[in-house]
Amino acid sequence: MLALALGALAVFVVFAYFQMPLVWWTIAAALLAWYASVIGDFSFILNIFLATALVVVAAVLNLPFIRRKLLTDHILAVYRRILPDMSQTEKEAIDAGTVWWDGDLFSGKPDWDKLLAVPAPRLSAEEQAFLDGPVEELCAMCNDWEITHERQDLPPQVWQFIKDKGFLGMIIPRKFGGLGFSALAHSAVVMKLSTRSSTAAITVMVPNSLGPGELLLHYGTDEQKNHYLPRLAKGLEVPCFALTNPEAGSDAAAIPDRAVVCKGIWQGKEVLGMRVTWDKRYITLGPVATLLGLAFRLYDPEHLIGEKEDLGITCALVPTSTPGVNIGRRHLPLNAAFQNGPNWGKDVFMPLDWIIGGRDYAGKGWMMLMGCLAAGRAISLPTSSVGGAKALTRFTGAYARVRAQFKTPIGRLEGVEEALGRIAAHTYMMDATRVMTAGAVDLGEKPAVLSAIAKYHMTERARACVNDAMDIHGGKGICLGPNNWLGRGYQIAPVAITVEGANILTRTLIIFGQGAIRCHPYVLREMRAAKELEAAEASREFDDAFTSHVGHVISNGVRTLVYGLTRSSFAPVPRNSSAETRHYYRHVSRLSAAFAFLADVSMLAMGGALKRKEKISGRLGDVLSMMYLASATLKRYEDMGRVKADLPLVRWSVRDALYHAQQALDGIFSNFPVKSLATLLRWTIFPLGMSFRPPLDSRNRECAQIALEPGAARDRLTAGMYIPKGETDATGILEAAFAAAIAGEPIDRKLRDARKQGINDPHAVLTAEELVQWQRKEALRKQVIKVDDFPQDFGRAEIEQKLAAEKPVTAKAA
Ligand SMILES: Cc1cc2nc3c(=O)[nH]c(=O)nc-3n(C[C@H](O)[C@H](O)[C@H](O)COP(=O)(O)OP(=O)(O)OC[C@H]3O[C@@H](n4cnc5c(N)ncnc54)[C@H](O)[C@@H]3O)c2cc1C
Repeated sequence: MLALALGALAVFVVFAYFQMPLVWWTIAAALLAWYASVIGDFSFILNIFLATALVVVAAVLNLPFIRRKLLTDHILAVYRRILPDMSQTEKEAIDAGTVWWDGDLFSGKPDWDKLLAVPAPRLSAEEQAFLDGPVEELCAMCNDWEITHERQDLPPQVWQFIKDKGFLGMIIPRKFGGLGFSALAHSAVVMKLSTRSSTAAITVMVPNSLGPGELLLHYGTDEQKNHYLPRLAKGLEVPCFALTNPEAGSDAAAIPDRAVVCKGIWQGKEVLGMRVTWDKRYITLGPVATLLGLAFRLYDPEHLIGEKEDLGITCALVPTSTPGVNIGRRHLPLNAAFQNGPNWGKDVFMPLDWIIGGRDYAGKGWMMLMGCLAAGRAISLPTSSVGGAKALTRFTGAYARVRAQFKTPIGRLEGVEEALGRIAAHTYMMDATRVMTAGAVDLGEKPAVLSAIAKYHMTERARACVNDAMDIHGGKGICLGPNNWLGRGYQIAPVAITVEGANILTRTLIIFGQGAIRCHPYVLREMRAAKELEAAEASREFDDAFTSHVGHVISNGVRTLVYGLTRSSFAPVPRNSSAETRHYYRHVSRLSAAFAFLADVSMLAMGGALKRKEKISGRLGDVLSMMYLASATLKRYEDMGRVKADLPLVRWSVRDALYHAQQALDGIFSNFPVKSLATLLRWTIFPLGMSFRPPLDSRNRECAQIALEPGAARDRLTAGMYIPKGETDATGILEAAFAAAIAGEPIDRKLRDARKQGINDPHAVLTAEELVQWQRKEALRKQVIKVDDFPQDFGRAEIEQKLAAEKPVTAKAA
C-alpha cells in the first residue's frame, strides 16, 4: 500500500509537472485502481463500487457535455454572481494594448528561446545620423542653467531648431512630412536630450507621446490628417493634450469637463457642433500650444446625433486661437522650465468635425486614449529616466574620482562605492529595459502592462540613482548654479513619478490588476464567457477555459514545489545559455511558476476584493516587474554579445531583482488574509527557505569600478548620452578633469613619496613636463569642486537686463 501511495504521488507529480491531458490522468487513475484492487484483494462489491466511481468521475471530467452540465455550468453561474461588473472605461482599459513577454511570465513557463530569438533592436543609418547630427547639435545649444534659471524657457533659437529639424514629428510618417522614426530611435533621441536638458527632452517628448499626433495617426479622418500632421511635423503647430481637471487626476475617466451637442453658427453658417466647458491644469506645452487636444464628456440631450444621451469621453482638436479658449499662464513644476500650465473655456462653440476621427468617434475618447497610451508610456518616461541615469553614472563616477577626501578619491571609500555601484548597475538594467520595451513597440506590440512596468520602475530607479548621486556629491549637488550638473535633475525626479499614471497607482492598481486579467492565459476568457457570451457559447467557452485553468494551477503548484526543492535546478533555460547566466534564467523560470501559482491562489482566495487589497496586488506587481527587468537584462547581455566586462552589472542587477521579488513574496505571505493558505504557499514556493541573497559587496565594487575607470565598459554603459566637447561648461570640464586625474595618478604618487621625505615643493620633484600636467590637473580639479555664489538677488537684475535686450526675438518665437 505504501508503494501504491508513493506510486500515485509520483504519477501525480510527473503528470502535473508536464501538465498532461485529462485522458492520461484517467488512464493512470484506472491503472492505479486496478493495482490497488489486486494487491488489496478487494471484495467483488468494492471492485464494482470502485469501477463505477471511476467511470462516473472519468465521464464527468472527460466528456465536455457531461462535465458542463454537472460541473462547470454551475461554477459559471456562481462566477457570474460574484464577478463584479466592469465599467465601460475599465473594459476599454483592459481591452487596450497587447500581451507580449508578460504573457510568458504570467504563464509560469517563459519560453526563453522565443525571447532570445527576437533580433536585437537596431537604429537605421538615417536614425543614427539624426542622433549624431541634429540631436548632438541641439544638446550643444542647450545650457541648462540658462534655461532653468535665467530664461525659465528654452532660448528662441532652440525652440526654432526643434521645430525646423522635425523633433516634434518623430512619430509622424514621412508621407506627412514627419521623420517616421522607429520607437527605438524616438527613445534614443529623448534619452540623449535628457542627458543634457530635461526641458528640451520634455518639450520634444510630449508631442511624440500620447497627444494630438498619435491620436490623429490612429483615429484621425483623412481631412484631419492631411491638414494637421504636416503642420505638426514641421513645427507649425505646437500641440498639447489636456485631460487632467482639478477634480480628476488619477481618476481621469471621471473628468467633469462637458460638452453638449447643439446647432450654432460657425464661419457664417449654421452647423452641428458642441458647446464645450472645461477646466484643465498641469498641461505640458499648454502655455505655448497652438493646438489643444481636449478631452471632455459629450452629451446629446436633444438626440441630434443619435439615440444616446451620455456619449462618453470624447477627444477634439481645438486651435488655441479659438475665441473663448483661455490659455497662457504657467505652473512652476519644481523649478523645471518646460512649459506647463492650466487652460479653460466656458460654453465654447466648436464644430463636430473637430472631434478626432469625426462624428463617428464621438464618445470613443477613452478607448482611443487607452489604445494609444502604451506606446508613449513605453518610451517617454522610461527613456528620459535612463538618460538621467546614464548621465548620473558618468558624471558621478568622474566626480568621485576627481574629488578626494582623507587623501583618497571619494569613489574609493566603501560607502561611496556602494552608492556608485548601485547607480551603475541600475543604469544597465534600465537601459536593457528601455531597449527591450521600445523594441516590443517596434514589433507592433502595444505593451499595456510592460509599459506600466517600465514607467514605474525606470522612474523609481532614476529617483533612487539621483538620491545616491546627490549623497555622493555632498554640498556640490546642493548649491545650484551653472557649476551644478545635478541639482535640477534631483528637483525634477518627482515629475516623472507623477505623470502618465502616478506611480503609486501604477504599481498597486495597474501592473498586477491589468496583468492578472490581460496576461493570464485563462482569466480574460473566463470573464468574457461570464459577462459577454450567452447560453451554449458561454458554457462551452467557460468550460474549456476553466478546465485548462485548473490544470494550469495544479501544474504551476507542482512545478513550483519541485523547483523549490531542487533550488531551481530543473527550471527551463534557453538552449544556448552560457554558464555565467544560466542559473539566473533558472531562477526567473522558477519565480514565474511561483508567481503564476500565487496569482491564481490569490485571485481564488480574495476574488474581486484583491483589487482593493493594493498592498498585496502591489507586491504581486513587484514580482512580475522584477521578472521583466531581469529578463530584459539577460536579453541585453545576449544581444550585446556576452561582453564579459559587463557581467558584474548583469549579476548585481539580476540578483538584486531576484532578491526584491523574494522580499515581495515574503510580504505577501506575511499579510495574506487566509493564514492557512499563506503557510501552504510559503511551503510550496520556498520549501527550503528563502534562498535568494542580496548582491555581494564584491560585485558592487566591480560595478562601481566601471563608473570610476575610463574605458570601453564605462562607454558602453553610458552609450547614447551627450558628452560635451571641450571644456566650455561644467560637465565638459568634469570629463577633462576625470581624464587628467587618472593620467596624473603616477605624478600624485611621486609627490606623496616626496612629501614623506619632507619635500613639499612640486618644482623640486617633478620634471617640467610633469609639472605642467600636474598644474593642469589641479586647475581642472579646482574648477570641478567649485560651487556658485550669487548677489543678493541671485543675479536677477542682470538677467532681466540681458533678456530685455532680446525680448522681440523671444516674443516672436513664442
Ligand atoms: C508636471 C506635470 C505635467 C503634466 N502634464 C500633463 C499633460 O500634459 N496633460 C494632462 O492631461 N495631464 C498632465 N499632468 C497631470 C498628471 O497626469 C496628473 O498629475 C496625474 O494623473 C495625477 O493626478 P493628480 O496630480 O491629481 O494626483 P491625484 O490623482 O490626486 O493622486 C494623488 C496620489 O494618490 C494616488 N492614487 C490615486 N488613485 C489611486 C488608487 N486608486 N490607488 C492607489 N493610489 C492612488 C496617486 O498615485 C498619487 O500618488 C501633468 C502633471 C504634472 C505635475
